[in-house]
Amino acid sequence: MRKKVMIIGAGIAGLSAGCYLQMNGYDTEIVELHNQPGGLCTSWKRKGYTIDGCIHWLMGSSPSDEFYSLWNELIDMKSIQFINHDVSMQFEDRTGNVIRFFSDVDRLEKELLEKAKQDKKMILSMTKAIRKLRTFKLPVSKAPETYTFLDFIRFFWDLIPYYGELNKWIRISASEYANNFQTPLLRKAIRGMFWPDMNMLFIILMMVWFDKKTAGYPIGGSLAFSRLFEKRYLELGGKIHYKSKVIKIITEKFTTIKDKATGILLDNEQSYSGDIIISAADGHYTLFEMLSEIYHTDQIKNYYSTYPMFSSYIQVSLGIQRTFDQEPHMASMALNSPIVIDPMTSVEDISLRIFNFDPTLADKGSTLITLMFTTYNHDYWNQLRQQDPDTYKKEKDRIANDIIDVLDKRYGNIRSQVEMIDVSTPATVIRYTNNYKGSYEGWVWTPQIGFKTMSKELPRLKNFYMIGQWVEPGGGLPPALLSGRNVCQLICMQDHKPFVVR
Ligand SMILES: Cc1cc2nc3c(=O)[nH]c(=O)nc-3n(C[C@H](O)[C@H](O)[C@H](O)COP(=O)(O)OP(=O)(O)OC[C@H]3O[C@@H](n4cnc5c(N)ncnc54)[C@H](O)[C@@H]3O)c2cc1C
Repeated sequence: MRKKVMIIGAGIAGLSAGCYLQMNGYDTEIVELHNQPGGLCTSWKRKGYTIDGCIHWLMGSSPSDEFYSLWNELIDMKSIQFINHDVSMQFEDRTGNVIRFFSDVDRLEKELLEKAKQDKKMILSMTKAIRKLRTFKLPVSKAPETYTFLDFIRFFWDLIPYYGELNKWIRISASEYANNFQTPLLRKAIRGMFWPDMNMLFIILMMVWFDKKTAGYPIGGSLAFSRLFEKRYLELGGKIHYKSKVIKIITEKFTTIKDKATGILLDNEQSYSGDIIISAADGHYTLFEMLSEIYHTDQIKNYYSTYPMFSSYIQVSLGIQRTFDQEPHMASMALNSPIVIDPMTSVEDISLRIFNFDPTLADKGSTLITLMFTTYNHDYWNQLRQQDPDTYKKEKDRIANDIIDVLDKRYGNIRSQVEMIDVSTPATVIRYTNNYKGSYEGWVWTPQIGFKTMSKELPRLKNFYMIGQWVEPGGGLPPALLSGRNVCQLICMQDHKPFVVR
């Protein structure tokens, strides 16, 4: 008889697990609190604009990367038009100095050497690593949980040529490395390219993927991308229950030292039973709300009390009735005076995404611009929304107004051309995705975490697995996909079945 698997969460991890398990002879159902798929990988509509809320770049967007074939197992990658930008990001200081991060490593090297002569040694060290790691392939085809002794030998053998670079860059954070640059703008750029506490290896790999043109943006945006996974999952026979919030994982005694998961309970008191339960939802809510503390290990408590998390964020989106053809798609610029975001957060730079490259998001002649401001002050925004909705709205309007002022000065006459304003806050992220503290990507992949992995299983609970960004430090869409694939391989191995892809 086919086993029944209940999956919590229709983000990319949950949909990925659902697809692979359906392919492998399991009957699966997904329960999702929102009314649509994708979780964080989403977009929304306002006044004729499609506001994108996620994908800046997708690792594995071209066949030159090993992730491409994994995406292709679930969706038809050829049906998506990916945009690879010549300049991945541009940084500008207050005096108008500009550093462009070209995707092509040769052009990047030339630009950095021109703009930051005194940092030659460090620049060449970075570009040497980019060139070396161009041929490095992440071992993604087989789940590490299913490795045999021989697989481990092969894994370490394949790593040998790259070990020096991998080991060097993973030990230092972006901000530690950046501190050694003499050129202030380059220092700021390396810190701001992704996340200051992230290890430098990730920043280098990012530049490798840009260079290989395998970190593109999918035309149509993030929700359209997520919908492809929903479609495939439904075609494979899966079922999704939207607007269904899980509040409890039902367990029963299995042995004297171990229980087993047998079902899930929703907030409307409906329950579903399953032979296997997978949570692809927020990690903290899963462990600390859906499950009893008897299942928490010291290691888990340690993660949630000491590991740094990506913060939450405010997203300001503007629909502007004009084009920005000559502007870079992504630019960070220093402000003349700081903008206050909330009582704990103010910013001295803004980072713009000008969607002049995706004609599907706005009518001809109009452009979507988005700005993201990270903040750890999720409690403030959550409480304000619940307790004082008027001030909540006023604060959102104030931030949007401050941004429009800046853009008005920069581009001239913007205010009269703004026809759509949308501001989402950490309260929005929490409401729609339930992510802990409104985090946008789970755990930061720090030098301290290094190559350590997190377990998908709990030692005291059988038939239960966790997947997605809360067990894959660094987060992101490729690890979400991989997490769903790997858990299926693990379950197949435990059921003595071969893992198949169809
Ligand atoms: C602004 C932004 C930009 C990003 N840019 C990129 C990028 O360029 N490239 C990239 O690779 N990644 C990017 N990411 C990160 C990426 O989107 C996430 O890491 C990834 O989508 C996480 O997928 P997931 O399935 O693990 O989790 P989620 O997307 O959080 O999915 C979890 C799902 O579980 C549901 N859920 C939660 N609790 C419950 C419950 N109790 N009951 C039922 N359902 C529940 C949620 O509603 C959600 O649908 C970005 C994220 C953001 C927010």
